Amino acid sequence: MGSAVTDVPSMGDDKPLSGRHAVVTGGGRGIGAHVAARLAKLGADVTVVGRTQATLDAQATAITARHKVRAAAEVVDVGDPEAIKNGFARAADRLGPPTILVNNAGIALSAPFHRTDLDLWNRIMQVDATGPFLCTQQVLKGMLAAGWGRIVTVASGAGLSGYPYVTAYCAAKHASVGMVRALAREVATKGVTVNAVCPGYVDTDIVTNTLDNIIAKTGRSREEALAELVAHNPQGRLVTCDEVADAVAWLCLPSSASITGQSIIIAGGELM
Ligand code: NAP
Repeated sequence: MGSAVTDVPSMGDDKPLSGRHAVVTGGGRGIGAHVAARLAKLGADVTVVGRTQATLDAQATAITARHKVRAAAEVVDVGDPEAIKNGFARAADRLGPPTILVNNAGIALSAPFHRTDLDLWNRIMQVDATGPFLCTQQVLKGMLAAGWGRIVTVASGAGLSGYPYVTAYCAAKHASVGMVRALAREVATKGVTVNAVCPGYVDTDIVTNTLDNIIAKTGRSREEALAELVAHNPQGRLVTCDEVADAVAWLCLPSSASITGQSIIIAGGELM
């Protein structure tokens, strides 16, 4: 009480995740690639997971070269329970049991409600809701045994509010936020935190595909279509991958131990 503060441990340590193994699903490109690089910069060994071997290999090689940590690639379709089980087992054998999991892999398909058939619904649920559930099941036991863990799910503003033409995506992202909230309470005394980040429109292939879709369906120009998307964000722009990655990395820090069950909105004020 009253003594001078001379150090802020986790802020002063530039490798606070050293010795940790982080698994980032969808880590080969888009938001996930930026998250994987951020965690590596903070000292974590990283396994990037996705469907595309070449992209994953390139990302893992670049991470090791730049950040001098161990990095590996695992081809896993997070819509396939058996592939998840085998891929996470291989990842743990290679770099040790993961104590950080970022559930980032996701697909964003759109359709008006009356054209949302069961196949589309099931596909999105499988990847965006069941995928995070199954991946989390693969790592939780190890985190509880270690008495330390960080689980971050990249949900969406669509996990907290409704948007037209994306019923299945909204439902899946709401499901993933619900899982985060329930699990956060369940493991609150065990050293494991469970959070979501909820970005608005981020400058990735998902937005490029959304723009292509709007252009094809409405005949608008790319500039008009982009203006329509960024109008959701009071800052009038797309969120960047780096902004999302920084929020995820912050949630993974040892000093973020009190932050659990949260859905951090990264959307320039779109949602409050
Ligand atoms: P992206 O550039 O399209 O990347 C999607 C990533 O997920 C890729 O690495 C992809 O890798 C992987 N992936 C997709 N399906 C997969 C599957 N079945 N199994 C394994 N990996 C799979 O999209 P992004 O914008 O970075 O999206 C990342 C996350 O952010 C998603 O969950 C998305 O819903 C969420 N999000 C995005 C935005 C946005 O505006 N961009 C906004 C809010 C939330 P492969 O192709 O190699 O499989």
